[in-house]
Amino acid sequence: MEVRVVHKVLKANEEFAQMVRERLGEAGVVALNLIGAPGSGKTSLIEAALRGLKERLRLGVIEGDPETTRDAERIAHLQAPVVQINTAGGCHLDAHLVYRALEALPLASLDLLLIENVGNLVCPVEFDLGESGRVAVVSVPEGHDKPAKYPKLFRTAQVVVLNKVDLMPFVDFDEGQFRSDLARLLNPGVPLLKVSCRTGEGVGEWVRWLQEVVERGPSSLRR
Ligand code: MG
Ligand code: ZN
Repeated sequence: MEVRVVHKVLKANEEFAQMVRERLGEAGVVALNLIGAPGSGKTSLIEAALRGLKERLRLGVIEGDPETTRDAERIAHLQAPVVQINTAGGCHLDAHLVYRALEALPLASLDLLLIENVGNLVCPVEFDLGESGRVAVVSVPEGHDKPAKYPKLFRTAQVVVLNKVDLMPFVDFDEGQFRSDLARLLNPGVPLLKVSCRTGEGVGEWVRWLQEVVERGPSSLRR
């Protein structure tokens, strides 16, 4: 019984994901789904992207959180179109929520849509939002074992951002283990971007990666 219910939910999600994909395709918008733990720096990465790309690309943002509009307010400060989705305690975004949010965005005048998922490394991975690609966000204080413990996120991501690298000297983060779990076991060849939104280290690479994805088109993202 349990299995059948879950299956049905995911099937309905798949239909909405297809509708999202079609709308984005018609509008020529590349959409990226940022998945990471609470506090890993997803909103900060979006802010950095808005600052770095504002002269070159037109960005829109969907913010997913259980409660509050705090992250959407941060984005609105940067003059970008943003929609906040509150899941009222729900621990992931689904394609229906994203489809509804698209109605409130000026899709025809966007190049890139960044979707910040609810902070969670588990179930957001199961819900296709109709995105062009996934960004796995993990921060140094969370520890080097996240890829090994949450393999599906890292296996299905088109890029991995290791954030808060400025904290590396203060915590026991085994970068060799992190890299070997990621590249050897889970996702060989996935780009790994080392970033600190606080110091600005690596932010240029993040911005450049986003720009290249838009220039090359969503089909350039390896699946
Ligand atoms: Mg956030
Ligand atoms: Zn969930």
